[in-house]
Amino acid sequence: MASERTEPLAPQSALLPAGRDLLRPKGVRRVAMAAAYVALFVLLDWASTIHPFLGYNITPWSPPPGLSIALLCVFGLSYAPLWLAAGIAADVVLRFSTVPLHISFLTNLATAAGYAGIVWILQRRLRFDATLPSVRDFALLAGAALIGAAIVALLVIAVYFLAGALPAPRLSEAWLRYWVGDAIGIALTAPLLLRMRHVARPSVGSAEMIAQGLVLAASLWVMMVVGTKDQIRFFYVLFVPAVWIAVRHGLTGAAVACFVIEVVLMVGAVQREIGADAVLDLQTLMMTLAVTVLFTGVLVDELRKQQAARERLRDEVSHLARLSTGGEIASGLAHELNQPLTALLNYVRVSKAQVERGNAAAQVLDSMLKAEAQGVRAAETVKRLHDFLRYGEFSLSDFNLAEAAGEAVALVRVAKRGTDVAVRVGPELAGCVVNADRVQTTQIFVNIITNALEALVEHNVAAGAIEISAARRGGEVEISVADNGPGVPAEDRGRIFDSFFTTKTEGMGLGLAICRSLAEAQGGRIWYEHGAKGPHRFVFTLKLAGG
Ligand code: ADP
Repeated sequence: MASERTEPLAPQSALLPAGRDLLRPKGVRRVAMAAAYVALFVLLDWASTIHPFLGYNITPWSPPPGLSIALLCVFGLSYAPLWLAAGIAADVVLRFSTVPLHISFLTNLATAAGYAGIVWILQRRLRFDATLPSVRDFALLAGAALIGAAIVALLVIAVYFLAGALPAPRLSEAWLRYWVGDAIGIALTAPLLLRMRHVARPSVGSAEMIAQGLVLAASLWVMMVVGTKDQIRFFYVLFVPAVWIAVRHGLTGAAVACFVIEVVLMVGAVQREIGADAVLDLQTLMMTLAVTVLFTGVLVDELRKQQAARERLRDEVSHLARLSTGGEIASGLAHELNQPLTALLNYVRVSKAQVERGNAAAQVLDSMLKAEAQGVRAAETVKRLHDFLRYGEFSLSDFNLAEAAGEAVALVRVAKRGTDVAVRVGPELAGCVVNADRVQTTQIFVNIITNALEALVEHNVAAGAIEISAARRGGEVEISVADNGPGVPAEDRGRIFDSFFTTKTEGMGLGLAICRSLAEAQGGRIWYEHGAKGPHRFVFTLKLAGG
């Protein structure tokens, strides 16, 4: 569950220096990029020219403004004149006979200046982040697509009207078609282009991706074989693959799915010679689908980011808790190290004396080996603490449960030097290889064993004993830590896993809360059992390796 991680979306300002260079192309690169943009603009305009209203650039599907808004958002408003040039170039290439040059200039000026103004408001006034990292940013873009297109449509239609190119009775019809075409063109093209820079490794398996592709293809096929009227009725089928893709791939997947659907629908509309009104109806439905699916995608992204932030916070809190345990361990460590270091020193002195006396090499070697063994013991003690305190990313690996339990017992013993409590680790633990985060599993053990030890000391239990045992249950192992103290009083049992619940004067009340979040992060559970007569114990589960 927690192993499924998403790449954090870098804000525009956090792009690497190489990325910054890409965003400020210079010289030949700048010219090449501008030429590529104009070519793509004309190509998209040509491909999307369906039912041009009176032969003008008023169509129910117009992706070039989406391309150009993405250009201004990423490369800056200084590219607005290039938009004007691209618009005129498209009119010259595609509509030379129907659109006079002065009308082309004025309509494209209205478009480029109008949208540039909207991008300016988005970026300067509303702190819009063009990487679309949040629902807010996407809502701003969607709002700009709907409101911006309505305003620009008004300006463009006014130019046509004032130039005497559009009769008054058809103004509202022309405005509606322009508005729908631009709004949907922006809503589908701009997110796709803006997210292209953040294509993360898919978080779902290839089998699921193939299934998504097949369901999408099948739904589109249904749309292609049914009659024009039924197309509207069957449109809802497309929601299934589109929402599925958005939920699993976030905004990037949603943008790709919507764009593919739109392209196929429009190609179908041209091939089947669907009338202008039917295309407009289809586009209105497409707008509903796009808004629903893209919002779902961006919401999923935001939820994933929140989950990743929560996971980071959990790791940090558990690390802090380890550090606070570590303080206690460190003070015990001085005593713990004293013994092997003194022994090591003695063995080294003995070997030195043996060499000076000219003893046999075998004798000297024996002393040296003993010195080495003590050195290894001291190093292991320090390493154990170091491993425990190190801050590491949550990572699953296969390890032996007995090792983690043994490390935890050794760490608690160092921290609680002088307490006379027998800790027994059941031999069955040695046979259990689990798939979990090793440090965090050790931490669960440390917290529970420390609690048990403190309870035994607090209640002066004679012959205090802690018993760690394990039992396999299917693909899981249930690990139990029992002590022969009085256990948790009945009235506290419902609260012991709550953060900050403690009955100790110096307790923080975080130990068990951390245990619960660590166990759950590894796909396990944790609970407390207190039999009426039988022993009480803390139990947690972990996944067995390969289970
Ligand atoms: P803290 O140890 O700082 O109090 P924990 O979350 O680790 O915080 O424990 C919460 C409470 O649960 C403890 O204060 C104690 O009252 C109770 N508790 C935990 N383990 C035991 C135990 N083995 N025996 C009795 N009480 C326990």
